[in-house]
Amino acid sequence: MDLIPYDEALDRVIQTVDLLPTERVILWQALGRVLAEDVKSDSDKPSFDNSAMDGYAVRAEDLQDGCVKLKVIGEVSAGSEPNVKVERGTAVKIFTGAPVPEGADTVIPVEFTKQEEDFVYIEKPLKRGANIRLRGEELREGELILKAGTLIRGYELGLLASVNKVMVSVYQKPKVAVLSTGDEVKDLGETVEKPSQIRSSNNHVLYARAVETGCEVVHLGIVKDSVEQIREFLEGVERYDVVLTTGGVSAGEKDYVQKLVEKSGFEVVFHKLRVKPAKPVLFAKKGKTLLFGLPGNPVSCVIAFDLLVKPALMKMQGMEDYKPVYYTARLVRDFSRRDAERREFVRARFWEEEGKLYCDYSPKTQSHMLTSYVGANCYMVVYEGIKELKEGQEVKIIPLG
Ligand code: AMP
Ligand code: MG
Repeated sequence: MDLIPYDEALDRVIQTVDLLPTERVILWQALGRVLAEDVKSDSDKPSFDNSAMDGYAVRAEDLQDGCVKLKVIGEVSAGSEPNVKVERGTAVKIFTGAPVPEGADTVIPVEFTKQEEDFVYIEKPLKRGANIRLRGEELREGELILKAGTLIRGYELGLLASVNKVMVSVYQKPKVAVLSTGDEVKDLGETVEKPSQIRSSNNHVLYARAVETGCEVVHLGIVKDSVEQIREFLEGVERYDVVLTTGGVSAGEKDYVQKLVEKSGFEVVFHKLRVKPAKPVLFAKKGKTLLFGLPGNPVSCVIAFDLLVKPALMKMQGMEDYKPVYYTARLVRDFSRRDAERREFVRARFWEEEGKLYCDYSPKTQSHMLTSYVGANCYMVVYEGIKELKEGQEVKIIPLG
């Protein structure tokens, strides 16, 4: 099989993935999820003319240049109904959010006034309409406020609350299972008995990244490089939307995930990528279950998650146009590599200085070095055919997230 360029692999993933069904949840459970319905305003916003400041509600026609003296005939605070009308020569003391009394068309902030007994002196006249929030100026009843496909962050959640949206229709969370494979792999807390054994990080990185991406994730632990164990696993995954495995997908004798995947009823969409690290990535489908067979090398495994699995999980949750975002930054140090055949994603850090973005890369460029993520906040993209990048040259970066 030919190596697949990254952009093509991403397109194939996106084409293969379907949106999950929707469900109705109570507002607070909608946080971090994607709206599956258009939401309209339940009323005019604001729903009545009200004051934007603490001050005095007056008639603009009473205000002339210089100081004006008005009789204070009442007071209205937030939550109370005004029971006086502002006639010529009068003012009503008003507080932020209180309804503007009839007759008034302007609010003078308290800082521009001086009250003496029953009179207020307006020291600075303002234009008609100043400091009044008009009914419907933000939204009209029935106006569309959020479209289906919008990610519900805290801001949107607040907006939904403001239109009394108690139950919200959202896309279901993908059910994801994570499994690591490898005779040498020992899980967190297990005793490492021999020098040839290694501590597993992959299943935990993937668990965490999938949770960060809004999924319901289960740990299925670690299985040996065993035909029976891997086959049993592959044949029983249909209850999950997405299965993430690590290890066993390259060219080794015991790389059973790739050897058994078709025998277990999966259709392979692609196997190897023209990407470094993360060449041996297997993407397959069985019914509605997607399988990403990710490489065992810890960095390759996370890169494959960020660049391919995350876009799939985002689309399933309703974000159809999610793709990694690219910025341009200036490299501060020369970079070189021996082999330019594949597109390389190097862990790097970018920052802003005097309006420009700069980027430096981690010296740990190899695929087994998870420490290359320490202090990193982006990938630096080194395109196919490029062997050297020079200090000062512009490079593309993808922020981590
Ligand atoms: P594989 O993809 O199975 O050929 O493994 C490639 C490399 O990744 C080997 O050095 C493995 O020991 C290592 N590796 C495999 N699984 C894990 C894991 N769960 N956590 C950390 N490293 C792993
Ligand atoms: Mg292995």
